[in-house]
Amino acid sequence: EAILAVHMKKIPLAPDVDPRTIARGTPGFSGADLANLVNEAALLAARKDHPEVAMADIEEAIERVASGLERRSRLMSPEERRRVAYHEVGHAIVGEALPGGSRVVKISIVPRGMAALGYTMKLPTEDRYLMTEGELHAQLASLLGGRVAERMVFGEVSTGAGNDLQQATELAQAMVVDYGMSGAIGPVAFGHERRTLLAGSEARAMREHGDRVADVVDAEVKRIVEEAEEAARGVLMARRERLEAIAATLLEKEFLDG
Ligand code: ZN
Repeated sequence: EAILAVHMKKIPLAPDVDPRTIARGTPGFSGADLANLVNEAALLAARKDHPEVAMADIEEAIERVASGLERRSRLMSPEERRRVAYHEVGHAIVGEALPGGSRVVKISIVPRGMAALGYTMKLPTEDRYLMTEGELHAQLASLLGGRVAERMVFGEVSTGAGNDLQQATELAQAMVVDYGMSGAIGPVAFGHERRTLLAGSEARAMREHGDRVADVVDAEVKRIVEEAEEAARGVLMARRERLEAIAATLLEKEFLDG
């Protein structure tokens, strides 16, 4: 029944498309992987001017997607795979262990896309209306769990945690300047003002006030991120054996569901 959208154009599935055959050809694919696959098949059909997405398009898409994934995974050395496994399990354990943390849907060390060597898929939080302060701290800690696990196991972090740090910093910044969750800044929201300031046009007029506040904001953001890292470390130190066991299983199976 699925209808696929390509550049806003909807292409129906041909009657010969058999879900069982697709299932057999896509072991380990998540819902998102399947959505990708279907999209790829729709693109192939569109390119050939087919009015429908046929089973042949889907089979070609499975081959493309699967071989692309294999090629990328071969680029990772065994040591890198180990590091990615611990990193992802670090995220997962911290997210599950802290109240308000992210529930884990799936962990994978099969590389996807250019940036992600592995990933931990969490239950979406966008459909939540509200997040409490405690939940945000737990989210921060789970964002840092990957990095903390790497440091615990390998003695140092890697560039793989760069995106996590960026997300954590942005979240901590929002807590300080948008949500009034920093004691030092107080219940004042000036995220908008601060962003305008950073944008530069009226920067000079606001600088005197801005510089002082910016220093406090930076210090608060740093404190909040460091505390979250500490919380993540506490969780993982107390669960070191589980970290080892789950990482070993992940290395063997390449993906684990929640
Ligand atoms: Zn990460």
